[in-house]
Amino acid sequence: MNERFFLSEADGHLYRDGDLSAPFRKGMVKWNSRIKTVSDLKGLIRAADRAFGGTSLVLIMDDGETLCNACAHSEFRRIAEAVRDKDNTGWRAVSACMDNETGPCECANCGDIIVDDEEEADDEPNFDDDFVDSDPWRGGPEGDMFG
Ligand SMILES: [Zn+2]
Repeated sequence: MNERFFLSEADGHLYRDGDLSAPFRKGMVKWNSRIKTVSDLKGLIRAADRAFGGTSLVLIMDDGETLCNACAHSEFRRIAEAVRDKDNTGWRAVSACMDNETGPCECANCGDIIVDDEEEADDEPNFDDDFVDSDPWRGGPEGDMFG
């Protein structure tokens, strides 16, 4: 295997090929940084391809829509041109994250569900009327305390 070095344009650090795990933990802090240039975009896509097994890139577009990893690749030229031209056509990627870091969303281009919202909904606390009964100051028979 050829030893190659990989300069991440997302965080500016240099990584050695095949040894991305440790430095990329640090890099993830800066992962949600804004995409300002075509280099940023390329860096993010390249980094995602190499470093994040099991998760996928999600591009956040200038109109707040999200784009899936497959479309980030298939529509790369279009996105890159919009980034370069600072186009507000809905094709300009302004930031990115991984699919395990974002809420429910779907791809604005192909319509694929990127993150299903059912999992998220299960985590929502359930504030219904039972809440009152769980309050110790209201749940007990107060009369007993004072005879
Ligand atoms: Zn898509």
